[in-house]
Amino acid sequence: MEDCIFCKIIKGEIPSKKVYENEYVYAFEDIHPVAPVHVLVIPKIHIPSLNDINEDNSKYVSEIFKSIVEITKLKNICNSGYRVISNCGEDGGQVVNHLHFHVLGGKDLGPKLVK
Ligand code: AMP
Ligand code: ZN
Repeated sequence: MEDCIFCKIIKGEIPSKKVYENEYVYAFEDIHPVAPVHVLVIPKIHIPSLNDINEDNSKYVSEIFKSIVEITKLKNICNSGYRVISNCGEDGGQVVNHLHFHVLGGKDLGPKLVK
């Protein structure tokens, strides 16, 4: 947890471009955007991945999904459409082991889900 870059972003120890924040959620611009809109949405507690969601932390997860809709409104992609992705584990391509949701949009993302 001490080495977690997203925990450091929440604490302000690593800079980020904030998009949205509430008691449970922090959202910021991805440093390597793959679409015109590419926002990362994370819980303000360290949850390693989707595999670690449980009854005790599920409030953070529901707040994340409510926040995602607010973020798509802020970014003007709510009506044009968007994609939400959470990579989990090695085959899922997860690089940062702090649960996060990629919110992608601002162009036609196409139907392809895997390479
Ligand atoms: P994942 O492969 O799902 O673990 O994605 C991790 C994402 O975090 C990648 O899209 C990175 O570009 C992004 N990322 C890594 N470090 C930072 C950072 N300091 N600020 C913003 N985004 C970051
Ligand atoms: Zn963390």
